[in-house]
Amino acid sequence: MTLSVSSAFDGGNIRLVVIEGDRIDLEIAKDQSSDFYQWFYFRVTGGGGRALELRILNCAGAAYPHGWEHYRGCMSYDREEWERIDTSYAGGVLTMKVTPASDSVWFAYFAPYTMERHHELVASAASYPGLAYRSLGKTLDGQELDYLELAGGPLQVWLYARQHPGETMAEWWMEGAIERLLDESDPVTKRLREKATFHIVPNMNPDGSRRGHLRTNAAGTNLNREWHAPSFKKSPEVFHVLAEMDKTGVDFAMDVHGDEAIAANFLAGFEGIPSHKPEQQALFDAFSEALVRATPDFQTAKGYDIPAPGKANLSMSTAQLAERFGAVSMTLEMPFKDNDDLPDPVYGWSPERCRLLARSCLDALHAVIDRVAAYRAA
Ligand code: ZN
Repeated sequence: MTLSVSSAFDGGNIRLVVIEGDRIDLEIAKDQSSDFYQWFYFRVTGGGGRALELRILNCAGAAYPHGWEHYRGCMSYDREEWERIDTSYAGGVLTMKVTPASDSVWFAYFAPYTMERHHELVASAASYPGLAYRSLGKTLDGQELDYLELAGGPLQVWLYARQHPGETMAEWWMEGAIERLLDESDPVTKRLREKATFHIVPNMNPDGSRRGHLRTNAAGTNLNREWHAPSFKKSPEVFHVLAEMDKTGVDFAMDVHGDEAIAANFLAGFEGIPSHKPEQQALFDAFSEALVRATPDFQTAKGYDIPAPGKANLSMSTAQLAERFGAVSMTLEMPFKDNDDLPDPVYGWSPERCRLLARSCLDALHAVIDRVAAYRAA
């Protein structure tokens, strides 16, 4: 059987340079109308029993070159279980070595979360009696922007993910969050729903997801730089979500992402917004401390530099929502690599750990929700 590489499927991204013997040279394609790239997802057929050397040649020019250091690629036969494989990075080239057991094998930057899986998630959630489904509008490629509302108490909680489509861990997190929020036998869920109404956008960037983008939508726009002034033409996804937020208000918000370089889970907040308030910050800190107590997968030592007073970037959703609504808002970052404090040699950071982290985030919200309610009522 001839060795062959393909990526013409939902979320796929790779360009074949050359196949020579058992060596396959590849390049990652840029996002449409953008220079960003780092997400890859492709299939190799005809490689069963062969000692393959997969080389991605253009990694030095990727969005986050530091992301390749100590990174291990993901491989799957059934597209359910994604194992890490022998990977090295040198001279701008990422080399993955594997002898597949099958003539059909899939490789990805992280366990993919395809639009087909997204539709299954939304379809199963939408059939739940207490949940209202609505499309907030259409994307540039003509996909629906799916929104789920779980009506409950007066506090307005927004959970939204995957502004950056290559950060598939964000939607694995969503799967865990939605599963727990729909479990009526869960006492934490019961309490949260007495206190709050949940507004959920499981995937902010369907077009980038299907196109196999790292960071942008169909127009090459980075959605998390649009929140100060979203436009119908360049960033309808943000335009529609922010319009809905303006109707409901926002008390607490989580924007879920993945980070290429840092091998840890961490939060980024809204320090540096013009209207920054001590109690607003104290609630962010209380959530963060509650999450540390809830799971060893979360920590506060590693993360981004905190912006100086007045230096927040209001084009990013977390800062914009904190400023616009006085919300306790945060960006959750999960690793592409692993949680180095609690590493998994077989899977690295994985879909299962994303789902579990989402459950812990709901525990942390439960721990602080009365304080958030009191702050918002004041
Ligand atoms: Zn991101």
